[in-house]
Amino acid sequence: MKLFSVLAVLAFGFSVSNAAFIDGQEYVPLGDWARANGLHTVIANREVVLTGKTSRLAFEVDSAQAQINGVNVRLSFPLASDRGTPLISKMDIASTLRPLLFPQRTPGERITTICLDPGHGGKDTGNRVGSGLFAHNEKSYTLPLALELRSQLRKVGFKVILTRSRDVYVELPERPAIANRAGANLFISLHFNAAQVDKVDVHGPETYCITPVGAQSSNAHGEDGEFGSTVGTGPTVANRRENESLLLAYQIQRSLVENLHATDRSVRRARFAVLRDATMPAILIEGGYMTNPTEGQKIYSAAYRREMAAAIVKGILAYQRITEETALPSAMTTNKISAIRHAE
Ligand SMILES: [Zn+2]
Repeated sequence: MKLFSVLAVLAFGFSVSNAAFIDGQEYVPLGDWARANGLHTVIANREVVLTGKTSRLAFEVDSAQAQINGVNVRLSFPLASDRGTPLISKMDIASTLRPLLFPQRTPGERITTICLDPGHGGKDTGNRVGSGLFAHNEKSYTLPLALELRSQLRKVGFKVILTRSRDVYVELPERPAIANRAGANLFISLHFNAAQVDKVDVHGPETYCITPVGAQSSNAHGEDGEFGSTVGTGPTVANRRENESLLLAYQIQRSLVENLHATDRSVRRARFAVLRDATMPAILIEGGYMTNPTEGQKIYSAAYRREMAAAIVKGILAYQRITEETALPSAMTTNKISAIRHAE
């Protein structure tokens, strides 16, 4: 973090209580934003907590990890601080906080068709854990999860298409293209993760959505290179729906963590090749770590994948309640939002 830019701003006499530029990003005091939105700010050492009647947002200075109403969400830029005043990037206010706390309904759009993308396939095994006869290939678990999820989504009335229904290789850009051609309303890519180090300590689901324009993708992820997520910071097709994609990722991550009683590895951002060209809200779920001995055994069991599919369905339905004009509003989310709005 280059703080000299803040100092430069100070030296020229501008007030940092308005804005500061850090590493080229415009930052504003987090407390000002909180006050304007009816939230109370408490600062303890490096931790900053904003609370409202039914909302709690937690941040840490110099960290991009935030917790928004109980769900971990990776910011695009770390929180900064100027002489004890926590600063947040304007980009994170616009592309992280606002879409989650003040979600917009999507007029006239209904979710009827969902495209599921079972990761890898054919010559591409995905992550491979173990060796020889005992090897577990990621591609062998993403497909049964997708088939189970398809069956559960059909039961609640959705049409479902798959980018592959057999053990075949499908090029990455072809996967969102299938969803686009079918006019799918949501695109959900299904994967399982593998850790290179800390194999015992690292476990839990992660849910990805497209990185905002101008931001770096959020993490040094094992599959970054494979998925081609490190492709500059320019706009992609998927950025047109990035707010909805974030909300979908958030609702699904919340449901996975709550229903599977799993460790929350956070909503994250990446310009994965399977997300970049999607014209509809699009996310990628890493359902857990095959490399963790306990979580790996769960992933290999049909019973756990059934629970995971059920959790994903609940997340989709929560998203639908929030975004569809004709759907009944979700009591929980609506209460939270109206509480914040009334306090404005
Ligand atoms: Zn994968």
